[in-house]
Amino acid sequence: MRKISLPMPVLRTPTVDPGDSFTAHNEDSLLDTFGRRARDMRISLTDFCNLRCTYCMPEEGVEFMSRDAAMSAAEIVRFARIGVEKFGVDQIRFTGGEPLTRKDITEIISGVAALEPRPNIALTTNAIGLDKRAPKLREAGLDRINVSLDTVDAATFEEIARRPFLNRVLEGIQGAQDAGLDPVKINAVLLPGINDQQAPELLRWCLERGLSLRFIEQMPLDAGHSWQRSSMITAADIFALLEPEFILTPDSAPRNGAPAEKFRVASRSAPDTILGDVGIIASVTRPFCADCTRTRLTAEGRVRTCLFSHTEVDLLTAMRSGADDEAIANLWKGAHWKKLAGHGMDTADFQQPQRPMSAIGG
Ligand code: SAM
Ligand code: SF4
Repeated sequence: MRKISLPMPVLRTPTVDPGDSFTAHNEDSLLDTFGRRARDMRISLTDFCNLRCTYCMPEEGVEFMSRDAAMSAAEIVRFARIGVEKFGVDQIRFTGGEPLTRKDITEIISGVAALEPRPNIALTTNAIGLDKRAPKLREAGLDRINVSLDTVDAATFEEIARRPFLNRVLEGIQGAQDAGLDPVKINAVLLPGINDQQAPELLRWCLERGLSLRFIEQMPLDAGHSWQRSSMITAADIFALLEPEFILTPDSAPRNGAPAEKFRVASRSAPDTILGDVGIIASVTRPFCADCTRTRLTAEGRVRTCLFSHTEVDLLTAMRSGADDEAIANLWKGAHWKKLAGHGMDTADFQQPQRPMSAIGG
């Protein structure tokens, strides 16, 4: 078997004294003490979801935030404007929970699309209802879309998502393509003994439809805290699952901080024909923290500098108390200044964050 290796992870060391908050406040960017500048903003629109994926949410007993606690459309657009104008944010991705469950998502996207300079606007969604909404989202200014789909088998879908909605998701994906959203990327998490053996089938299905598949290593962000490093499906496992049927050739294009390692795909039966691409996001086994350019806002307007943060800085309360853009920007910069070097999953004292993925915004 031909071996393909991913680059080794790099951890940065501080380039400035972390106690020197003066440096942070004099910066026009979300700088941290490791020299990284965050320009890629992830905004969670809600913690509510109409699925219950096992790796993300508990089966029952979820308490969702109240409507008042969540940022309004105007507040979201104002945070986006501060990010764009003060920190040079050039990419904004809406996520959740399920962002399509917000009725005002089109208003939010068109508000962000009107910012100067206009950031690139992306959405991560489970695609339920997307068939009806995709044309309006595109018209409002949506540039890119990622849809989560872990399997094309209805029974497996129900086992993972705990809801029998595979067909609605497939209709949503078709609707996105019909609306001209291009590319449509698919995100898949593989779970041992559940859908891992279906990886080649899912890739084949995506290639046949011109969809760009990304496998994401499962991270310890499940509500049940049952994730185990020893039993998760790793990037190396994913290669081993795909290689009997496909030839994967590393894409030579620069990665530019993107989390996915990309490969061009050909079938072993026709090695000279490139069918499309596949990506592997090895967040656990090959972390890319050293190149992280992300800043995250939870649906209730708190900054998280990392998915795995144990602290958040509340910007929404400041905004609602009348803070001006400058004061909000300073709070935001202060949070980033303290961003840790990495998620620390491989350290002995690693602790999973209290919030599950759905409440952070993936
Ligand atoms: N509901 C939308 C969706 O599913 O696309 C957006 C929110 S969801 C939290 C965003 C992404 O996070 C999805 O692609 C999902 O597969 C991924 N995700 C959720 N929990 C995860 C986990 N524990 N490890 C890795 N990825 C996870
Ligand atoms: Fe909902 Fe997305 Fe989490 Fe699945 S991964 S439960 S669709 S928020």
